[in-house]
Amino acid sequence: MTKEVNLIDALKRYFGFDKFKGDQEAIIRNVLDGNDTFVLMPTGGGKSLCYQLPSLIMPGTAIVISPLIALMKNQVDVINGMSEGDGVAHYLNSSLNKSAVEQVKSDIRAGKTKLLYVAPESLTKEDNVEFLKTVKISFYAVDEAHCISEWGHDFRPEYRRIRPIISQIGNAPVIALTATATDKVRTDIKRSLGIADAHEFKSSFNRPNLYYEVRPKTKDVDKQIIMFIKQHPGKSGIIYCLARKKVEELAEILKANDIKAAAYHAGLDSSTRSKTQDDFLMENIDVIVATIAFGMGIDKPDVRFVIHYDIPKSLEGYYQETGRAGRDGGEGKCIAFYAKKDLKKLEKFMEGKPVAEQDIGRQLLQETAAYAESSVCRRKMLLHYFGEEYEQDNCGNCDNCKHPKTKIDGKDALLIILKAVAAVKENFRQEYIVDFVKGRGTDDIVSHKHDQLDEFGAGADMDNKLWNPVIRQALLAGYLRKDVENYGLLKLTASGKRYIKSQEPFMIVMDNEFTDDYVDDSNE
Ligand code: ADP
Ligand code: ZN
Repeated sequence: MTKEVNLIDALKRYFGFDKFKGDQEAIIRNVLDGNDTFVLMPTGGGKSLCYQLPSLIMPGTAIVISPLIALMKNQVDVINGMSEGDGVAHYLNSSLNKSAVEQVKSDIRAGKTKLLYVAPESLTKEDNVEFLKTVKISFYAVDEAHCISEWGHDFRPEYRRIRPIISQIGNAPVIALTATATDKVRTDIKRSLGIADAHEFKSSFNRPNLYYEVRPKTKDVDKQIIMFIKQHPGKSGIIYCLARKKVEELAEILKANDIKAAAYHAGLDSSTRSKTQDDFLMENIDVIVATIAFGMGIDKPDVRFVIHYDIPKSLEGYYQETGRAGRDGGEGKCIAFYAKKDLKKLEKFMEGKPVAEQDIGRQLLQETAAYAESSVCRRKMLLHYFGEEYEQDNCGNCDNCKHPKTKIDGKDALLIILKAVAAVKENFRQEYIVDFVKGRGTDDIVSHKHDQLDEFGAGADMDNKLWNPVIRQALLAGYLRKDVENYGLLKLTASGKRYIKSQEPFMIVMDNEFTDDYVDDSNE
């Protein structure tokens, strides 16, 4: 059937674009063929078009399940504003009054509506279910599908009810879309939606136009930010802070320095928030200082910088937040300020939470710290985190690649680490392995009698600062892997085992040093 549809014509006619981006065409054909589809694409990759275009071509109405009310209105307005788009999209959510709901329903009955956006809460409402049973549904699109998983950065329990509701309303193909690509989240999504056989389209998560940099967070951080903004006059940017109080303080400081800035966080009332959003989109404001409450679904294509005032809680969150820069493919500078003290603060926040949650939280935090401290290409580290290997050694567009450190020989150190991991039966985490090779007889090590092994203290006379970078770079090079489902235990890979028998060259770079409030425990 799809061969007869000229997709390029349709793309041009409805959206005004000349060609498809990435996998869009293959994805759309798969949807048109009536298959379940799973789309993993980074922010800005062009996910929306993958369900919008087929919905316009296919008979019936597509149901788009989307988590945020604000996001829905925005998307619907965009579609209805397109050529030939007038009135083809609607949304159903708690913000509509009775007569507006009736209008939507009558448009659907009349066959005018090709796309219906619904929040999962509205989808589960009895009235709506009964109504939708009477409608011809072309397919279901589940946007931001990672909300299904507790391992995603934005878990929403209502998302778990999507499959049962679909079965009630009436089966039709499902297309799930997300920008979160970790394996754990991916399996959760497929299982929960019951789309084990879905065709999967995973695009590269590399965003070549984004520049990544980490700076030590010193007393001068505000001054540095002001300077940076003044060097980019009139450019749009977002600054993320962890605490609402900091958001407000920093926004005031920027304003006092003649920068058109505004604060945004969930504690402000909704009219202030939507005005701030609009002002940002209309460019009455250049810089938004915000908590992570800001950004989901904000499609401002020309955000030129994203600054993290505080180090984020996870690399996934970091990737999402920085992903809001340069969506149009133009420049996007992503700068994070890092201090070890902030890590401690974040760990403190976790105290009191359930143990399992604390554990996930700590693992995620450690990955962020490793990202900040390492001198390896930032892009390589981010992509590795998403299960993607970046083959080049130097990306040319991150601080570590622009100012590369001299490499040193890491062969002996790697061998010591790999043998240590084997000696403790691949049952321990990074910190434990580091203590073990240093020869620190901690309570934990003594209780396992590991201080009696030959490999204990094998690296005692070497530079203490070697071990973390060696382990991280061994992970990147594939000699070790971290078992994320299992407390982050270090495991040897096949090539790690091979390395123990016959070594190859292994060059490493030492970590960046964070002198300001950098707590050095290496001489303990
Ligand atoms: P995502 O949901 O994956 O973050 P969007 O669907 O918001 O991405 O698309 C990102 C941007 O790319 C939007 O501004 C959109 O208009 C644009 N876009 C999508 N597809 C194309 C295309 N084929 N050609 C040009 N621009 C496109
Ligand atoms: Zn790089």
